[in-house]
This record gives sequence, C-alpha cells and structure tokens, in this order.
Amino acid sequence: MKVRLFEIFTSVEGEGILFGTKTLFVRLAGCPFTCFYCDTLDSLPMDSGNEYSIREACNLIDEKLEDNTYKVNFTGGEPLVQSEGILEMAKHVKSKNIPTYLESSCYDSEKFSKVLPFIDYIKIEFKTPDAKFVDSKHYSKLIGNALECLKASVASKKITYIKIVVSSKTELENFKELLDKIFNKVSKDNLAGFIIQPTYGIAEPSLEKLLKLYDLVFPFYNEVRVVPQLHKFIGAP
Ligand code: SF4
Repeated sequence: MKVRLFEIFTSVEGEGILFGTKTLFVRLAGCPFTCFYCDTLDSLPMDSGNEYSIREACNLIDEKLEDNTYKVNFTGGEPLVQSEGILEMAKHVKSKNIPTYLESSCYDSEKFSKVLPFIDYIKIEFKTPDAKFVDSKHYSKLIGNALECLKASVASKKITYIKIVVSSKTELENFKELLDKIFNKVSKDNLAGFIIQPTYGIAEPSLEKLLKLYDLVFPFYNEVRVVPQLHKFIGAP
C-alpha cells in the first residue's frame, strides 16, 4: 500500500482546543473540495507531494518526531481521501504511545469509521453552504456524512470537538440550521469544544458578525470559543 504525503513537519498547533501544543503535522495530499478560504491549496491535487510505502511513511514519522511532541495531527488536504494510509500510520503512532489527532471535513462516514479506532482526538469541520465546499446539490449529503461521523465519534467516546470556519459571507440562517442538525445528533455534554474560526486574509468577518454567530451557538453550548488560526500570528506553518 502507498500513501501520498504533501509534507511532514513539527510546529505549534494553532487551531482548535489544543492550540499551543507541539505537534507533528502529517499533511496528506489531495482534496476534492473547493472551499473558497482554503489555505492549503498546494496540497489539493491528488498528485501533489510524494508517494511512500507505509513502511517509508512510518520511518519518516519516526525521523521527524521530536521530543515532547504532544500529538501527531493527520491533516490535509482532506486526509480521509487516503483513509487506509491514515489507519496504518495512526496505528504506528499509537504503538509509540503518542496521541493521534484527525482534522477532517468527515465527508465519508464509512472511511471515517475505519480510522476511528486509531484516533484519540477528532476535530470535525462542519462547512456552511457559503464556504463553497461543494455545489448545493451535494451539500446535504456531505453534511449528512459529517453528522454520522460526529455521532460515531461521540459513541466511541473519542475526544470530539467541532470547528466551523466563518467569513463575512456566512449567513446566520444557514449557520443556525447547521447548529440545529448538530445538536439534534449529539448532546453538548459529549463535546470537548466548539470553535468558531474566522477566515484570515480573505472575506474576514467583522467582530459584530462573530458575536452574532457566537450568540447562536451559546444557547446550545455555552463553552463555545471564537479562536483565529493562532499559528499565523507567529509565522508558523
Ligand atoms: S476541505 Fe479543507 S483542504 Fe479541502 S478545500 Fe476545503 S479547506 Fe481546503
């Protein structure tokens, strides 16, 4: 089996509930989606990066793994595109007693359920329609998959949290609809966090917009946080 990695590097986690932790990022190549705010455009082509055997990829992880690494983050692109590769690499990382972390739009609940046993932290990235993730015809199906993944992750007692990227284009009504679907599926007590992440450098939302979005989440989940991508402020990748 082969896996295509775009890059692998150590940095400071700048997003989500574990921001600030020293992290080995394993960025898998390839993503079929088209979010307008995507900040990893170079990794979207399926033939970006380099191809490795699983053995070679695990050796690369060992080589790059620094002391005091808090977790290994499988990211992309869209990492689930290469779910088999994640599964094998995550098994390897877990055998070294280092926590594994997946950040994904969770577009495919079948692929997700295969990697789930080997992941400790799950960040589910829900997309609003204005993200231009997919066309409107396919949007409901993909959100349906993300909701199934959320349910499965919580049922497996994984540390699960939600992230939604918002911009000046985010419509409050769409955002609220998404919240209704999410909190119909899971209880707030089973979530480890809810992050509203403003876009950076493109269609940035105003403070007023961010507060309105926060106010929509708060009645469902009062530990909601608005957190920008902090790594960008220290020039970290
Ligand atoms: S799903 Fe992620 S990697 Fe793919 S286009 Fe959207 S933001 Fe970029």
